[in-house]
Parts: sequence; C-alpha cells; structure tokens
Amino acid sequence: MKRKLANLKSTSQLESLPDDIRTSKEAFACLLKKMSYLKDKKAVEQVTKAYLFAEEKHKKQKRQSGDPYILHPISVAIILTSFHVDVASLVSGLLHDVVEDTGTSLEEIKKEFGETIADLVDGLTKIGKIRFRSNQERMAENFRKMILAMAKDLRVILVKLADRLHNIRTIDVLSEERKLRIAKETLEIYAPLANRLGIYGIKNELEDHCLKVLKYQVYKEIATSLSRKKKERELYITEVRDILAAELKKYGFRDLSVYGRPKHIYSIYRKMVVRQLAFTDIHDLFGFRVIVESIKDCYEVLGVVHSMWKPMPGKFKDYIAMPKANLYQSLHTTVIRPNGSTAEIQIRTFDMHDICENGIAAHWSYKEKHKSPIKATDLEKFTWMRQMMELQRELKDPSEFLAAVKVDLFDEEIFVFTPKGDVKQLSVDATALDFAFAIHTDVGLTTVGAKVNGKITPLRSKLQSGDIVEIITSNNQHPSKDWLNYVVSSKARNKIRSYLRSEQRENSKRIGRTLLEHELAKLHIDLDKDLRKGKLDHLIKNAKESGIDEMLIAIGYGKINAKELVHRSFPKESKDPLVSDQPSVTKAPARTKTGGKLGILVSGLSNIMVTFGKCCNPLPGEDVIGFITRGRGVSIHRDDCLRALDLDPARKVEVQWSDDQESSTLHTVTLKVVTQERTGILADVTAAISNSGVNIRKAQVALSPGMKGVLEFEVALANLQELNKVIKTIESIRDVIFVERKNHSRRH
Ligand code: MN
Repeated sequence: MKRKLANLKSTSQLESLPDDIRTSKEAFACLLKKMSYLKDKKAVEQVTKAYLFAEEKHKKQKRQSGDPYILHPISVAIILTSFHVDVASLVSGLLHDVVEDTGTSLEEIKKEFGETIADLVDGLTKIGKIRFRSNQERMAENFRKMILAMAKDLRVILVKLADRLHNIRTIDVLSEERKLRIAKETLEIYAPLANRLGIYGIKNELEDHCLKVLKYQVYKEIATSLSRKKKERELYITEVRDILAAELKKYGFRDLSVYGRPKHIYSIYRKMVVRQLAFTDIHDLFGFRVIVESIKDCYEVLGVVHSMWKPMPGKFKDYIAMPKANLYQSLHTTVIRPNGSTAEIQIRTFDMHDICENGIAAHWSYKEKHKSPIKATDLEKFTWMRQMMELQRELKDPSEFLAAVKVDLFDEEIFVFTPKGDVKQLSVDATALDFAFAIHTDVGLTTVGAKVNGKITPLRSKLQSGDIVEIITSNNQHPSKDWLNYVVSSKARNKIRSYLRSEQRENSKRIGRTLLEHELAKLHIDLDKDLRKGKLDHLIKNAKESGIDEMLIAIGYGKINAKELVHRSFPKESKDPLVSDQPSVTKAPARTKTGGKLGILVSGLSNIMVTFGKCCNPLPGEDVIGFITRGRGVSIHRDDCLRALDLDPARKVEVQWSDDQESSTLHTVTLKVVTQERTGILADVTAAISNSGVNIRKAQVALSPGMKGVLEFEVALANLQELNKVIKTIESIRDVIFVERKNHSRRH
C-alpha cells in the first residue's frame, strides 16, 4: 500500500524582498526569480510591461525611507508570489498605486492591460482611499464598501492584504502617530479579515508587527522568552516527532512531517490575555502536523495516535466532516503523554493543507487546474462572506453593521445539530436561543424552551460542539429585553433588537398622539381630520421630521415638546403665553447635574440634564453618542458601546464634549493589569499610577493557579489622554504582560 507523508518545510514564511536590495532593477530581478512557478513566457512579458509602466509613473516619488517608490509595488508582488497567484494578481500588485498616487487614468490602464486588470486596479484604488478612523460610522460605511469591492473579485483583497503587509513591514520610518493609527486599523480590520478568509500567513505576520508597535514591552518579553526556551523546545519537538514517526511507520506511514508553531507571538499574547496565562506552559505553544494522501488515512492516523496516547476530553475537533466557514479542514486532537505533558496534533490531506495555509488564496493559485479567478458566485462557498453580504443589505445603520461585523470577525465556531441531523455553525458561547434564530427568525422570536441532548435546558445555556438541540416554540411568545443578554450572534441580536424597537416605537407613537391631540384640541384642531385637509403640513415641517409617524414618535420620546411645537406652528391661535422656548429634552431641575457641569453639550446646549452610561464610562476625548431617557435626561455612551446599540436610533441626539473644560469632573475607570510573578511588582505598578498624577480609588490583587498576578485598579481620571498616559507608563514596567481598560459592555 502506498502511504506517503509530506515532507514539507517548517511553517510557511511569506516571501519578501531581501533587505540589502535598494535598486529597482535588482528588486525586479528578484521578483522574476520568485515568480518562476509561472512557466509561460507571456507571464514574464506581462509582468515586465507592468513593472516598466509602474516605474515610469512612480519615478518622481520616494518612499518615506528614501527608497525609490517602485520598491513598494515590487515588494507587494513578491509577497503575492508566496501564494503562487496568477499573472493578473501580480500585474495588479505592481499597478495598485498608480491610479491613486500618480493620477494615471483607469482608461489608460484598460488600454494597456485590458479590462480585468483595470477592474482590479479600480477595486484597489477604491479600497486604498478608505481610512478606518475612530469615527465609527465612517469606519462602518467604509467596511461596507470594502466588502462590496471584494465581492466583485476576491483577488482585490489578496493584493490589498499584501499591500498592507509590506506597509507594516516598513512601518518603522513613520511618525509615532501614524504608526499607531495603522497598527490599530490593521488589528481591527485587516488581520481579522485575513483570518476569516483563511490566509493565515498574512494574518500572523500582520498581528506580530502590530503587537510590536502597540505593545512593544509585551512583544519583547514574549520574543525573549521564546528564544530562551529554544533548546528545550527543539528537544521536545524531536522527542515527540520520533515517537510518533516510529509508531506510524509500523502502519506503513513514512516521512512524517512535523511542525513546531511557536513563531506567532501575537497568538501567545492572546492566550495570555484570554486565559490569563503567563508564559509557562511551553508545550501549549507547539503543534504537530501529519499530512497524508487521503481522508481515510487521516482517520487511521487519528486512530493510531489515540491508541498511543490518551486524548484530552473535549479537545478533539473534526473539521473534515464539518469544515470551518473559511473552508479550513483538519482533524485536531490534544493528547496527554505518560509524563503528563500534552501535545496538539493536526491531521490533514495535501489538498486540505493547501487551503489550510492559504485559505481563499489557494483557490486561484496558478497550479490549480481550474485557475479562473474567484467570482461573486464562488462566494457561496464562503459562508462568512455570504453572511456579510446579507448583513450589509439588512442593516441600514452603519454602526450596527460594524458592531455585527466585529463580533463575527473575531469569534471562533462551534457546530450544533438539529434533531434531524442538520448542522448549524455558531460562534463560541452561542446559546440555545442563538440556535433558534439560526434555524429561522420566526422560530427565534417565538421560542419558549429548548431541549439539549434530550434534556430541557434554559434558553441562556451555552451550547457545545456536537450538541443536538430541539427548540420548542409557542405563538404566544414574544422577545423580551432580557433576551439580548442571552445571545451572542449578530443575527439573533439584530432580530431581537428590531422587534423590541418596533414595539417601543408603537408605544411612543401612541403616547405622542395623545400628547399632540391634547394640545391641538385646545385650539379646536382635530389631528386626523385637519391632517387630511393638509392643514397640518407646516406642523410636520416645523417638527423637522420626515412624516406624521416620525413626528408622533419623536413627541412620544420627549425629543419634541408638543406644546411648544403647536405654539410655534399656530402662533395666532395660541392664547397661552409660551412658558418655554428651550428644547424639549429634560432640562435639569435645580439639584441635578447639567451637561455643562459634566463637560457635555447636548445639541450644542449646556443646560440639559445628562448621565453617563455605567456600561462604558466614556471619557472626554472619546467619540460619544447620547440617547434620550425617560426622566433621567440624556444618557451618554461611547459610540462603540454595545449596550447603546440596543437603544432605539430614534432617541439618538447629538452630543459632544465641550471645549472649555470648566468642569473638573473625574471619571472612574477600572484598569486590569496582568503581570509575571515578581516580588514588588504591585508596589511598582501602584507607584507608576500615582506618579502619573492619577488617584487610585480601589485596588484588588489576585493570583490564579499556575499563573501570574492580576491586579485591578479603580482610578479617577479627567480624560482620554490621561488614561493613555497611565496605560503606557504601566506597560513600560518590567514583567507587566498587558494592561486593559475593563469594560462591561464590549466583548473584545
Ligand atoms: Mn500601496
């Protein structure tokens, strides 16, 4: 029996332009060498033409480092060769900046290189103009545009990711401010995107560069620890691999290929954050990988492994039977060896390996038989992309779209079954209620109970991969506000939210109608009759709402004062003198705090009563939004607060921090500091906080088993700058792993 195991090099490293190459000729020669997998002569001709074209166009430009600009597009093309991409991708990599940066027209590109290339460059130019700044709405709108540009031809996103990767590889020459902006944007948008598309090589490298920029101390700590343990690690890898190979050989498998995967610093950092672990359990940082010919072989190897070593319960995952949304397939298991150490093993076929490493990129790789580019129809295969497309059609409010996308970008998946055996893919932490919405919205909205593996279970209980879930519904059931606390998926949240909102709007409309009718009756005006006669058109106009319903809702919410509106619209008929000419939003009674005192302006006014959302504790300097509440004035939230997203946009009012900081209000923020174990570290951190002039209101210290210190400080701060300063100071202390602002309503 022929049983071959792959003999591949260690974890794939992406291609790059060698550091010592500084001239365009040498750089291009390097590209030609790396694209030698493209066997046909025409490819070389086309790429050469694109190179000459781009060099001419960029000839007056220099990079920040002083290098000729053309080195950038060439480097991007070189990164692309890592994926064995087709000629069109390489050409558009070379041309990606000519339209945006040199004013070359798309027409010219089309004439020289044809329609496909022109379309790709157009997509890249559009994405290139997108800046994901802190303003949530703009960021969301831009993300939408990006999804749309990608949907036309996914090669666009691969080139864009390569572009971003090269920019971040060469980020050192930029100013501190730009570095931070680019690193944040990359970590929030591009790295998760690469992850979702399964392009792990790019994702990993992007993340490591970002960590280095954003948390240099942490990055250094981990990198040093890694190199210190190198010997130990290599010994461990050889030992496990030899045992594994010897055993598999008995069953006819040869040339076992084993990978250590310790290089990705960011994933180690994430483990430290999420599981609050310190850099101790080095075995957890490595994986072994067995690559075989057929699916049947995969399961056989698994059988062999499990007969040698005991599998760790709950760690076996069959991504062959149930591929991830990005088409990733593999068997995963973690085993316990007799000496107590653990080893994580992945088993897959050659074909799967290609997709595992390169994700979506594997699909238009030149060596594939069907080398046609991915079109929108192929998106069907990518569940996640399809969901994004649906979501962007469904959600009209851009910030809601962004919130939804962010949740989905980061979450891992579990697989759950219907009683009939259909599989549903949900995010980790999904509940029975999420599952109900995954089946159908109508099922979700009328869910009364669930049976998990045959047992009645509360709706809020978390599901595990492999659970069989049956949903019980009733037509008398309706969603309540609590439900928002039970679900994690964006679909379920959105459906519940929109149900609650429409219910709320109906209520407000009724209240608004009563209030308005009451005021109009005093002038002998009948709302319905006179509305039909067109007598009330100017009333609606004065209310600055788009129609009668919107106006009634605004009155019901207290955004518009009915009395004031009627007076203003019928000044002659109104006999009562108007008491108030101020906006209708609750004005502060004598003893409560006004926005002005707290440094907040509501619609430009300082005398409106405000409260700060306890869920997100906004600080001066952060983008904020306000919502009208009943009886508590306007509540102020950070504009990325998830709790605030559950509130009705109809209640939203414009708020901003006032410039003159007459208010000396201090805001309470909780900081979480995770540290290595060291005597005196608490004293160091406490001193650092006090020295930056910030008061500690409360402190809490905890040590978790087998790990490090978790310190929590409640501090009083004036604004965002102060917060950033304190975080930076703490982070620079030796042995501090990371500092985080604790947040009640954000999930990441
Ligand atoms: Mn570029």
